[in-house]
Amino acid sequence: MKYRTILLFGAPGAGKGTQGKILGSIPNFFHCACGDVFRTLTTESKVGRIFIDYSSRGELVPDEPTIELWQQFIRNSTQAGRFNPGRDTLVLDGIPRNVHQAEMLMGTLDVRAIFYLRCPNMNKLVERLQRRALRENRLDDANLQIIKSRLKTYERETKPVLNFYGEKVVHKIDSTQTPVEVLLDILRRIAKID
Ligand code: AMP
Repeated sequence: MKYRTILLFGAPGAGKGTQGKILGSIPNFFHCACGDVFRTLTTESKVGRIFIDYSSRGELVPDEPTIELWQQFIRNSTQAGRFNPGRDTLVLDGIPRNVHQAEMLMGTLDVRAIFYLRCPNMNKLVERLQRRALRENRLDDANLQIIKSRLKTYERETKPVLNFYGEKVVHKIDSTQTPVEVLLDILRRIAKID
């Protein structure tokens, strides 16, 4: 059985996490941010060390450990009763992050919609990331060089994921709006997805 899935898509700093948390608080929706799963790891674990190594350069963690960790997280959440695959819609943020990951998850995800949070203003993204770095103590967002590398990685590796799923499922959302306006745009569309 594939998981009924909605993807939150967009550049780092576009507001995926903010929207994902809100959507995840609605009954029958389960939010999973891949970056948050990585951040629960410590450097005691091998994957934790791999994560620090790659994320500190603004690069993606290799696909195999990423997908394995994500599948483990979903299995644990299901066993703990937080995620009910038969009832809930999975709201994914930060995964799949490249076309190879999308291919690896083809047998697992039934992607019903992609909410593409668009922010044409690069400076705004940088500003948001730097503000969040201070608030959430996120090293990868504190340094301008790493931010630039993250945005380049997004353009090069993540953006092609949109084409992989095709434009029929993609909903473009203007992420320069206020969080409440972005939410309203998403909710109006989610209500219509079967
Ligand atoms: P995020 O919180 O989504 O911005 O992710 C922070 C960092 O975690 C990224 O820069 C990557 O190094 C790593 N990461 C998160 N999700 C993935 C993924 N699906 N594939 C590979 N690396 C990821």
